[in-house]
Amino acid sequence: MILFIDCGDTLCDESTEVRLVPGGVVQQASLFPGAAETLDRIRAMQVPICLVADGLEASFQVILQGLTDRFDGWVVSETVGAEKPSPLMFEAAMQAMDLQEEDKPKILMVGNNVRKDIAGANRFGITSVLADYSPRYDMTPHAPDEVPDYLLHDIRDLPDLILSLSEK
Ligand SMILES: [Mg+2]
Repeated sequence: MILFIDCGDTLCDESTEVRLVPGGVVQQASLFPGAAETLDRIRAMQVPICLVADGLEASFQVILQGLTDRFDGWVVSETVGAEKPSPLMFEAAMQAMDLQEEDKPKILMVGNNVRKDIAGANRFGITSVLADYSPRYDMTPHAPDEVPDYLLHDIRDLPDLILSLSEK
């Protein structure tokens, strides 16, 4: 298995983000409990991890400080010039991880946004996992391609989900 993962309200609790100006670089933010340990557990399972996140590069350097070495690939919309659900973001992740079309059945995209993460992953032909533990976004699919393949109620449950899918 290969993990593509969002940051805001998936690894990091967006309600804790501090910015000097609206839309500016995040100066401070907290991860969800167990998020860092979960990345370590997934790495220990030999599952490569790619960040696939919309926002500013400088923000993710702050939010994920001390954890950047957990990611084998690092794809940020500011650098790509497009945001999820654009396939450009997922294609950038494929390139960053040196993946081919035939690897798609092994890729999981985990994120909290049905319109961006889930629709983007479904249209791209990879497995979608909705992280549904943050209250900030509407989790209701409004189109068939916004329906996630799997639900994740706690980031700490992600290693077990990966394990169960890898046994399929
Ligand atoms: Mg998010």
